[in-house]
Amino acid sequence: PQLSPLLFENATRSRDFFDHAKEVIPGGVTAQIKHFDPHPVVMEKGDGSKLYDVDGNQYIDYLLSYGALIHGHGHPNVINAVMNQMKTDGSTIFGTPHQKEVEMAEKLIHLYPGIEMVRYTNSGLEATLLAIRTALAVTGKPKLAKFEGHYHGGHDQVLVSVNPGKRERGKPEQPQAVLESTGIPDYYVKNTVVLPFNQLDACEKILREQADEIGCLILEPVQGGFIPAEKVFIEGIRKLTEELNIVLIFDEVKTGFRVGLGGAQGEYGIQPDLTTLGKVLGGGFPIGVLGGSKEIMALTSGEKRDLLSTGAEQRGGPDAVFHSGTYNGHPTVLAAGLATIHELEKEEAMDELFRKTQHLRDGLENVYRSYGLPMQTIGTGSIFNLLLTDKKVLNYRDLSKADFTLRREIDLQLLAQGIYTKPLNRYSMSTVHSEEDLESTIHCHEQAIKEVLK
Ligand code: PLP
Repeated sequence: PQLSPLLFENATRSRDFFDHAKEVIPGGVTAQIKHFDPHPVVMEKGDGSKLYDVDGNQYIDYLLSYGALIHGHGHPNVINAVMNQMKTDGSTIFGTPHQKEVEMAEKLIHLYPGIEMVRYTNSGLEATLLAIRTALAVTGKPKLAKFEGHYHGGHDQVLVSVNPGKRERGKPEQPQAVLESTGIPDYYVKNTVVLPFNQLDACEKILREQADEIGCLILEPVQGGFIPAEKVFIEGIRKLTEELNIVLIFDEVKTGFRVGLGGAQGEYGIQPDLTTLGKVLGGGFPIGVLGGSKEIMALTSGEKRDLLSTGAEQRGGPDAVFHSGTYNGHPTVLAAGLATIHELEKEEAMDELFRKTQHLRDGLENVYRSYGLPMQTIGTGSIFNLLLTDKKVLNYRDLSKADFTLRREIDLQLLAQGIYTKPLNRYSMSTVHSEEDLESTIHCHEQAIKEVLK
């Protein structure tokens, strides 16, 4: 087979591995987002804030598995919790109710203002799917409203207008519904209303016009984990949805435990009707959660479903929302998640994490400024993005005006110098990044800028 061009001098094994992977895995990656040109780096080992690739190169990791690893790789207390769970309980999974399900539920109810009861899933995708199904069941209205540029996982309906091209988008105040994938029935496009983020007047107009049909609205309170909703905007959306009988879902898969222990809802002081969580909550293992008021969550109870396997009785009756899954509430995952939260609850842990993040952001901004490059870091809590634009960024359309060509060149240089973030991705911080890591990162950025400006 023809080899792909080499990413950098010391990446030959990565390149060869990837070329081999392409023969057995379409595109050589198991999630499309993991691909980048000329080829991804193939990792072999993680340790704290570091990743090590198959060529023996070391990287300071800011991808942290798309934000999931808030304590870095292999935190001893997380690993111990997992080992203990398996050893003490003598099983990896029971397939029955167990204590950790309730322990985690109580923790989440305590931390998240919008959560009175929870259900577990195995990914953020499944959590948003269940959230939307439950919300539409509550109102009996057929349509979902979502924001342009907001990502809620890979199921059919939320793959509308995640990353729409310039020509298909429609007017800024009334975005078109654009599909992200082929193979999705037209039904989902017709029943999805797309809204512009941080534009309250435009949203109000659209929501009022279609209020009889819109049953729920899902949003990322901080888009992509780094573009925060303006306070007046999100308060306005809460008021409008209440008035118009639209169930409001905060998708906090990314922001949960990252912008605050109680997620974005805790920071804004807003109670959504439903909340989805994932990522950090699993301590590096797959998880998702749907939480909400007792009244709404009761729909997922399915108490009449024990006759399901006989087929003798209708599944829970017309009022019940279907929810099941072999691995839901997995004990090993919950052990890892509980240990992760325990570490975050230690005194000063979150504050220290946020201080470190701000320190890195300030340092990077200074470097770019000293080379005359228009750059801003934008984000909140322990996630940020580095955008090459000096214009204010409030939504998807603003974001698309930043210089991603130069950013990509810089990111590829950074990889060669041992800073790992997938090109164009945001930066997620961990509690184990050291002062030295941050200084080294700032220095590598300076080197990368020098290279690309040559
Ligand atoms: N919702 C948001 C806001 C996300 O950022 C993601 C993943 O990046 C998801 C949902 C999907 O989660 P998962 O990848 O666990 O399915």
